[in-house]
Amino acid sequence: MKAIRVPQFGEPEVLQVAEVPDLTPGPGQIVVQIHAAGINPVETYIRAGKYAKLPPLPYTPGTDGAGIITALGAGVNGWKVGDRVYLAGSISGTYAEQALCEPAHLHPLPETLTFEQGAALGVPYLTAHVALFHRGQLRSGEILLIHGATGGVGLAALQLAKAADVRVLATGGTDAGRALLLREGAYAVFDHHADDYPQQILEATDGHGVGMILEMLANVNLGKDLPMLAQHGRVVIVGSRGPVEINPRDLMSRNADIRGVMVFATPAPVLTEAHMAIVSGLQGGALRPIVAQSFPLSEAPQAHAAVMSSGAAGKIVLTC
Ligand code: NAP
Repeated sequence: MKAIRVPQFGEPEVLQVAEVPDLTPGPGQIVVQIHAAGINPVETYIRAGKYAKLPPLPYTPGTDGAGIITALGAGVNGWKVGDRVYLAGSISGTYAEQALCEPAHLHPLPETLTFEQGAALGVPYLTAHVALFHRGQLRSGEILLIHGATGGVGLAALQLAKAADVRVLATGGTDAGRALLLREGAYAVFDHHADDYPQQILEATDGHGVGMILEMLANVNLGKDLPMLAQHGRVVIVGSRGPVEINPRDLMSRNADIRGVMVFATPAPVLTEAHMAIVSGLQGGALRPIVAQSFPLSEAPQAHAAVMSSGAAGKIVLTC
């Protein structure tokens, strides 16, 4: 089978297609034929060798994917060959035609979704769910600002928050991205590159501020976020690419909180609850992953460049 193998950390071009042996499941393991794999920004940080935890070389990248079960090891219950699944994790990496998994990595993929949509679920929808409801304690009736809503996590958060009866304000960097956010049900949209957008957001709340901000780029925005919060508001930081200066008095005067979230450090029971909510939202139709662009496996370097470029309008995936 074909798989991306990374022989050394570096630029996107280190993502090379290689011919590797087909996978065989050991006891308690499952092999999935991968039809599509999700590209997450963290995979570019790891590929570049700029992440706290790095895999031993060579490695096959990828946490997310979707496909069909082709083989079960001894002792696996609850799954059968032919089941459609989405993956949130694997033993062997998902940028490949096959992935070796444990049962806990797999979740049912409804027939109504394509494999590319299934590849958009794992990290983005889990992160959005954990950030909104576990770390952020979002409640219906609150106003939520998704600061950077056009990418994988932001669109997942928009759909999850709408399903929870929350009014969503959302930012995007392009006209096309903001039009997508309105189609997905955002109450109002703003350009995070405009000088006066924090003022526009405050005006949209009649000066009260927002109850919660889901922040995708804290190193740029955190200082501007705090004055947009309502009393007892909180910023939940999903993404940050460097340090930032804030005025703590902006928090004190609002009795407000800054909270971080890291999906890979989330307790298993919280993730299980999130997966149950995601599968139920997929079955009910409230959750519909949006794929912006698909690349063949051989164009993994271009897919890594695309996920790090501005102007997002959905998820970047690989077809395997
Ligand atoms: P993505 O699909 O590449 O989307 C990036 C988003 O950031 C887009 O909506 C983009 O909007 C937005 N953005 C760009 N400039 C911005 C600005 N100045 N202010 C606000 N937003 C801005 O990435 P993703 O998968 O959604 O992930 C988003 C971030 O969260 C990444 O940094 C990622 O590493 C991180 N993340 C963290 C966790 C965790 O566990 N903490 C999990 C998943 C992801 P435009 O392109 O429209 O400008």
